[in-house]
Amino acid sequence: MSSGYPWTAWIFWIGGALLALSGLTLLTWSLFWDRSKGRRRCPRCWYDMSATPALICSECGKVAKRERKLGKTRRRWRLAIIAFLGVLSGGWLTLMPKADRDGWWSLVPNRVLIAGLPFAGSIDDFWCKEMARRVALGTPFQDPRFQSRFGAPNYKLTAREWEQFFDRCVAGDVLARPLSERWKQKYGELIHAWTQSGLFEVDPEAEAAQHKLWTLPLHLEVSSRPVWPHDAAPLVECSLQNWWPIVASPRALVTPRTPNPATILVGDSPDRWLILDNSTDEQMTFDVVYEGIPNQPGLATPSTETILIPIRRGGSAADYLTPVVSPDMDAAMRSLRYQVSQYRDGKGRRISFDTRSTQVGAFNGVAVGVVFEFTLNGEVVARQPVWWQAGAIRENFLPFAPPEGNMDRVFMAAPNETAMIRVRSDPNIALRVLDCDQYWEGEVTIPLKIVTR
Ligand SMILES: [Zn+2]
Repeated sequence: MSSGYPWTAWIFWIGGALLALSGLTLLTWSLFWDRSKGRRRCPRCWYDMSATPALICSECGKVAKRERKLGKTRRRWRLAIIAFLGVLSGGWLTLMPKADRDGWWSLVPNRVLIAGLPFAGSIDDFWCKEMARRVALGTPFQDPRFQSRFGAPNYKLTAREWEQFFDRCVAGDVLARPLSERWKQKYGELIHAWTQSGLFEVDPEAEAAQHKLWTLPLHLEVSSRPVWPHDAAPLVECSLQNWWPIVASPRALVTPRTPNPATILVGDSPDRWLILDNSTDEQMTFDVVYEGIPNQPGLATPSTETILIPIRRGGSAADYLTPVVSPDMDAAMRSLRYQVSQYRDGKGRRISFDTRSTQVGAFNGVAVGVVFEFTLNGEVVARQPVWWQAGAIRENFLPFAPPEGNMDRVFMAAPNETAMIRVRSDPNIALRVLDCDQYWEGEVTIPLKIVTR
């Protein structure tokens, strides 16, 4: 059947409609039919008291307070409830074929979904998930993956609905003011669901509406651990967030107010990090300059912002990280691959470092914070702190602090020299992996492979 409904759908539609209709009839009858029409009736037992002028019922003894009470309409409440349930189940039955074909969500129109957003919590609750699905789908008709068994439920937002959606995102709500943490969790994520779908399918008439998103300012998020031991250099992670309708690759220059400030450039990705002075205390101030976005009204000129984040000092690494001593993890660490490709013509070198042996679910939540000691024939020639997050995580980036010592000497090793890396755990470096509360403790030695091309 081209409509996508089985023939049995008619049973539900006709049966449901009949049930709902009879329910409605019964409901009307039970509540409004039995009026007094001039009769004087006992309001409790409905005995006809026309024959007596008294206010006391000769049948049940009920005393009516006023003459008017004898003229009430008799309402059969129990029957009304049954009738009402009939109306509900009748309506439910008629909706069943559609719910079965397109899912129950198909009964909730886009408009209702958008209007309900202020009552939803975050992107993780069911209401926002459905909204995210619909804005990400854009046009379900064009993508067979999103079609249901028989046909495609029409979730496509109309021009007016897109406008309502963007207006809602830009305005936020009482509990989720724009750019607040709650706003980010809800409207920010919904906008990302739309931009990241890569479809950008908006009704041409709603083009103007999506430009409202440009009014949402850039936001540099600076995060760190709340407390750092005195003997560890605190690390902050910077990430630049935007909720614009197209990928515009914004950039920001971030400078900490320290005695020897170093400015870093934070782009769309990857996130960038800064290692602060060991003397950092209580709070850190960052001066941020957002670069302008050419040709974008209101954003073409650079803007500045000052961000303060608290950094308390106290305790030791052992207070914040639990050591993980495990033969499995040692084996994984021993399987790290470090290779240097040296170009014969002197046009530089390429370092490839492979941590995949540690990126497995068994090591979830474990930080790796180590010092690489580069040795030649058993003698340490250079050192470098390295840290990353072990476990099955989607994307990983490997920050290396600048090495100390003579790295060139290591990389230019002669074929008859033995180049190795002694990998030694250091909890103060492991603290730089902000999301973890465990760290690998141990020491392994891995070969340093030098290839000449
Ligand atoms: Zn009575």
